[in-house]
Amino acid sequence: GNQNKVEAKVLLLGAENVGKSALTVRFITKRFIGEYGDIESIYSHIDKVEGREISLRIWDSLYPQSCETTESISDKQLQWADGVILVYSICDRSSFEVVQQQVQLIRQARKLSASAPIIIVGNKQDLQHQRAVSSEEGRLFALSSDCGFFEISAAETYHGVLLVFHEILDLIKESRALK
Ligand code: GDP
Ligand code: MG
Repeated sequence: GNQNKVEAKVLLLGAENVGKSALTVRFITKRFIGEYGDIESIYSHIDKVEGREISLRIWDSLYPQSCETTESISDKQLQWADGVILVYSICDRSSFEVVQQQVQLIRQARKLSASAPIIIVGNKQDLQHQRAVSSEEGRLFALSSDCGFFEISAAETYHGVLLVFHEILDLIKESRALK
């Protein structure tokens, strides 16, 4: 195939209501709509980074309502993904705990390629007055579990969202070079 053509599959995980869909839609359309409904979708998006075309697939997952957390990530999702973005809300402590559990699950399941990158995202940075997880705590957890880390507001800025996706694409490229 074309040497300049890169393909990457990115899986978004995390609790309900943390902004997974807002992040996805912001990246693809540059816009924040506000309401996204409870739909699970795989989006296709062509991006251009440094003159190279990247064919991206983004799986905006749904966190199961009634299942145990141990069943919250399917093998199918992990086998599909080249990289994972784990999202929590900085004003929802339990969503941070979900991210912590999901990192453990992903590592234990060993269905995700060992070299596949994981980035943890603390979203809703605009809601400072409701903050329940400090930046330090988020960053330290990410560091200790060998994950990337960003705090962003999908509602307020496109820039942070762009940085998250470009970082995961860079890391996916790096992980392929290692093979
Ligand atoms: P999902 O269930 O993880 O897909 O979450 P959604 O993307 O549907 O977002 C849940 C709610 O949080 C919606 O009402 C969004 O408008 C809101 N939301 C998403 N991102 C942000 C953000 O960065 N800041 C604020 N204040 N609200 C956000
Ligand atoms: Mg959603």
